[in-house]
Amino acid sequence: MTSIISDTSHKRIPLSEPVMGGNEWKYIKECLDTGWVSSVGSFVDRFEETVARYMGVSYAIAVVNGTSALHLALLVAGVKEDDEVLVPTLTFIAPVNAVCYTGATPVFFDCDPRTFCLDVKGIQKFFLEECEQRGNGYIYNKKTGRRIAAAIPVHIFGHPTDMDPLHAICAEYNVKLIEDATESMGSLYRGKKAGGLADIGCLSFNGNKIITTGGGGMLVTNNKQWADRARHLSTQAKKDPLLFDHNEIGYNYRLTNIHAAMGVAQMEVLDNYIARRRAIANFYRERLGGIPQVRFLQEAPATESNYWLSTICVAQEHQHPLLRHLHESKIQARPVWKLIHTLSMYQDCQSYNIKHAFVAAATGINIPSSVSLREEDLAHVVHSIQNYYG
Ligand SMILES: *Cc1c(COP(=O)(O)O)cnc(C)c1O
Repeated sequence: MTSIISDTSHKRIPLSEPVMGGNEWKYIKECLDTGWVSSVGSFVDRFEETVARYMGVSYAIAVVNGTSALHLALLVAGVKEDDEVLVPTLTFIAPVNAVCYTGATPVFFDCDPRTFCLDVKGIQKFFLEECEQRGNGYIYNKKTGRRIAAAIPVHIFGHPTDMDPLHAICAEYNVKLIEDATESMGSLYRGKKAGGLADIGCLSFNGNKIITTGGGGMLVTNNKQWADRARHLSTQAKKDPLLFDHNEIGYNYRLTNIHAAMGVAQMEVLDNYIARRRAIANFYRERLGGIPQVRFLQEAPATESNYWLSTICVAQEHQHPLLRHLHESKIQARPVWKLIHTLSMYQDCQSYNIKHAFVAAATGINIPSSVSLREEDLAHVVHSIQNYYG
């Protein structure tokens, strides 16, 4: 009996599952034993300090999830109703929805075929050909007359966006940069942590991310005013800690001490988890490298990916059949997201020269990348893909 249960061919291989590092029980128990279970507590402070140090930034504000981090980042960056925010069409939907929470409108851009990240050249071209700078120093979309307030580069599957040229052009036109680093904690761009490269960065600790608090997020920035305002907005914009005095419409976005306790424990193993994910990507590259029909999403020069999700690209006509084949082999794999600008609620928004993202969406497949995977699990994934191609 036991041999059937432990037989890898009968167990489903997960794409990316949470793995406890060791001290989660201990720290969470401390919260329960002391009664510090809610949105104030020493683990919240410790989690914020640890993440700030790790990210190489001055300030970190813990919040309930990555989406609320993006929402607050947009608000503190000064994004207002009637502004426009530049976003990739190839992304998980959260950053685009967050733009809409502020009343602003997204404008969709293509991806770089090498990294799947925001097409920086497209943005440069858009600024030069479709926009005009006005006397107030801001840049406006000629077609809509709206101000371009911010851009959200998303570091897709762990691969950093080419930030230097993006930073240069956005600084020139006073466009704020909000890094969506929810998939890329620990990834490096020119030796610096992705998420700590621009005006403000957002992290997620959802269950499938590189580390998890069950649900959670964090804002990271070097801008003290922005950090203070984000904290203020995350606690119902309470002006006075004693009297019920509030000076703007805030939110209840604070992370609880229990979640933060889990985060402190997960931070202790983050670097090991990144090493493991990188080793998994390497394993796939070595074992599947001989199949000419399979390509890999690889690191761009001067970057190091946390390889949150290993990603292969196959011919368009093979994407769905291969996904089905993997599913039948009890392997959890998934296609790259549906392009956001094609979804019903966003199809009327402006999109600019989208080309490579269609190819990425029609050919990309995320394959199992959990740190819990054993050598035989990875071998099973490799064999299944080899079998598919005969
Ligand atoms: C996971 C994710 C988020 C936000 O995550 P939450 O589930 O809200 O913590 C935002 N953007 C991207 C690209 C993501 O993958």
